[in-house]
Amino acid sequence: MHESLDLAIIGGGPAGLTAGLYASRARLNALLLEQMGPGGQVLLTDWVENYPGFPDGLSGYGLVEVFKGHALRFGLRLETKEVRALRFGRPHVLELADGELEAKAVIIASGARPNRLGVAGEGKLTGKGVSFCATCDGPFYRTQVVAVVGGGDSAVGEAVYLTRFASKVYVIHRRDTFRATKVEQERLLANDKVEVLWDTVVEAVDGEDRVEGVRLRNLKTREHRRLAVDGLFVYVGIHPNVGFLAPGQLEADPWGFLMTDEEMRTRAPGVFAAGDVRSKSLRQIANAVGEGAVAAHSAEKFVSAY
Ligand code: NAP
Repeated sequence: MHESLDLAIIGGGPAGLTAGLYASRARLNALLLEQMGPGGQVLLTDWVENYPGFPDGLSGYGLVEVFKGHALRFGLRLETKEVRALRFGRPHVLELADGELEAKAVIIASGARPNRLGVAGEGKLTGKGVSFCATCDGPFYRTQVVAVVGGGDSAVGEAVYLTRFASKVYVIHRRDTFRATKVEQERLLANDKVEVLWDTVVEAVDGEDRVEGVRLRNLKTREHRRLAVDGLFVYVGIHPNVGFLAPGQLEADPWGFLMTDEEMRTRAPGVFAAGDVRSKSLRQIANAVGEGAVAAHSAEKFVSAY
């Protein structure tokens, strides 16, 4: 049985929840579909202190609860269902595990996921000392030694967070400068528990049932060394969640992030994209929220001219 919607929103992070809020207030018959429950990557963030309106900061979980409650207050419907495929047409058809949905307009706000290093031992030891979420796993490393890989906001921010638990935090970065925000860099470098290993890459993760260490190579001196660590936190960027799209179904940049115009329109009529899944230079909650609002506004215009 098909349900026919004005708008289907794929993804329940800040972009999707904001699109849902705007769509509900526009009285569209909208449904937000989320694979695991609302939140997205924000749930992996321990503390958010750059989202305007919350000068003291709040937890990623707390912010998601605020967004969700706000959208629900205006009647947004949420369902925990995975979208398997999307067939474009009039209407568009969303293929789910247990059936199909029809929608005049679709907003893709499916976000992005952490990249892997792709080195020996990483896969085998994921969940056994290799982690992509300091918020989830940091407390397990009380008084232990951990390493963080990467030089962006995630690596630097989560390394500082890990100093709450670990006795020592190595930050392994392949260059000699970070790309993270300066304030975060200053905070990291001022912390006595932190040691940065510049110009260094991880070549393998050692251990049988648990991480025991990492094998490192210095890219400048070419020196190899082994570093004993109890945990390895990998923060080397992200890739878009677009597995439900066929290759080439929508225009994307070389990394697979979706291309839109300023109104969040993709090239497929009635299909919009917002948030981290979009091709852009800055991935923040603040701009995800703005894009969700624009996408919902564009979807509303599309539906009213249908
Ligand atoms: P990112 O900014 O893309 O940084 C990825 C880091 O990983 C870079 O330092 C990169 O090195 C390194 N890297 C990439 N591939 C690697 C590999 N194979 N081996 C070793 N190192 C590798 O990713 P991110 O930190 O996850 O951040 C993603 C986006 O979210 C950014 O726009 C960021 O600003 C935003 N973010 C914001 C906040 C916040 O404001 N609170 C928190 C987290 C993330 P190079 O520098 O050499 O390229």
